[in-house]
Amino acid sequence: MVSQSMDKTKLETWGNVSVSESYLREPETIHDLRNIIESVGERGCIPRGLGMSYGDQPMNSSGDVIRPSFSGKTIEHVSMSGLVTVSSSATFAELLEQVVPLGWYMPVVPGTSSVTIGGAIAADIHGKNHYRQSSIADHIESMTLMLADGETIRCSKSQESSIFWATMGGLGLTGIIIEATIQLIPIRSSKVLVDRRSFSNFPDLFEAMKSQTTNAEYSVAWLDLASKNNPGRGILETANHADSEPDSQSSYETKPVLSLPSFFPDLLLRQSTVNAYNSLRFSSAGWGQNNKKIELSTFMHPLDKVRNWNRLYGKTGIIQWQMAVPEISEHTLFDVIDAINHANAPAFLVVLKKLGVSNQAPLSFPILGWTLAVDFPAKHEGIYEFLDDLDQKLLMAGGRVYLAKDARLNPKLIPKMYPGVHEWRAIRRNIDPDRRWQSDFSRRLDL
Ligand SMILES: Cc1cc2nc3c(=O)[nH]c(=O)nc-3n(C[C@H](O)[C@H](O)[C@H](O)COP(=O)(O)OP(=O)(O)OC[C@H]3O[C@@H](n4cnc5c(N)ncnc54)[C@H](O)[C@@H]3O)c2cc1C
Repeated sequence: MVSQSMDKTKLETWGNVSVSESYLREPETIHDLRNIIESVGERGCIPRGLGMSYGDQPMNSSGDVIRPSFSGKTIEHVSMSGLVTVSSSATFAELLEQVVPLGWYMPVVPGTSSVTIGGAIAADIHGKNHYRQSSIADHIESMTLMLADGETIRCSKSQESSIFWATMGGLGLTGIIIEATIQLIPIRSSKVLVDRRSFSNFPDLFEAMKSQTTNAEYSVAWLDLASKNNPGRGILETANHADSEPDSQSSYETKPVLSLPSFFPDLLLRQSTVNAYNSLRFSSAGWGQNNKKIELSTFMHPLDKVRNWNRLYGKTGIIQWQMAVPEISEHTLFDVIDAINHANAPAFLVVLKKLGVSNQAPLSFPILGWTLAVDFPAKHEGIYEFLDDLDQKLLMAGGRVYLAKDARLNPKLIPKMYPGVHEWRAIRRNIDPDRRWQSDFSRRLDL
């Protein structure tokens, strides 16, 4: 077996809580990829993109991890109707830098442009516009996938559709995506018009978000859960694509302007630091603005301006708890905000977004309602038990945790949060009876 004669490579992910040593394989051709898949051992193999997962999704301790580096990142052609075929190893940054000057944009974009197309499809990502554009699955016309037996298939919503849907949100466990044909949306400029308002309490922010979101192409709120007097105060941003401007060139700039050279000391990750930071951020004057024209890339990926900003969380890393609650259980958002505030859990980055209707992918995350994502330092005492309690609140409300960001969920909760998991397991058994595709994540969650 090839992998036994290779050295293992230490791999991490963005959250920095999971570290593993694996055999890293980087095939450049389909032929090499097939050889790797056919020769994997008992620990199997898992695809990897840029490792921007928060948990162990692209990790496979003592097994193979396949990071494809296929050609196809250079866009040869965008059809008149906006169809583009791109390699799964292309990043959003690479794709958008090429298609934005041509007047096209990805209908669904994550909070960072450092995510591969393969990783995005495997997570069935959503953006700040799920209530309008659904998740990325909606915009994938078709894709090429290599299955566990080395066979390459083309799948879509009408061809091999059960495999197509199982792969959306399937986190690499159905096969490796080689390329995808994506339907882009036309844009008139590379700018958006942003309305930004700050709110001193959550009920007001939430009401404004509900009423403003329907009229906006994008909507997102950044919350402060540490404030003792006003937990959930925050900033609401809504945005629409801007019209074209005479003599202006559209471009997409994703390069960081700053870089954090090393990890911050864990000592700084305390409630008092969060309070001080949030007081500065959320009470600063001048947050109200209407129709401010800014670059799309600045609005979509504000944190990309600082390379390695996750180092702010220290060496012990971050756990991101991202949940979705149905619209009818929106009161759970208030309960969760209250619980985090009372527990004095240092919640650094807190993001609230509106979700539209779900799709038919058994492991896709979005459900009609709301999603809240909260970053906690992994070393905070009692954080794992606290999140277990929050999961119970979620379950009672018919909600779920985003598997693509999970690093600690109790596997028993999966069938309750994702009733489609039984169907997904059956599809997987059918196409991968020997479980060639496996990861630390799949073993941890018994998937
Ligand atoms: C700062 C930040 C902001 C984010 N914002 C959002 C957001 O707004 N919305 C959202 O939905 N998510 C968001 N995410 C999550 C991110 O989009 C997912 O974790 C995504 O899967 C990471 O892609 P990656 O290329 O880094 O893949 P990796 O982390 O390397 O892998 C992720 C999963 O994809 C699988 N995979 C990778 N490549 C392939 C392939 N070619 N074929 C099959 N499977 C593959 C892996 O096996 C693994 O299970 C964010 C993450 C960060 C760090």
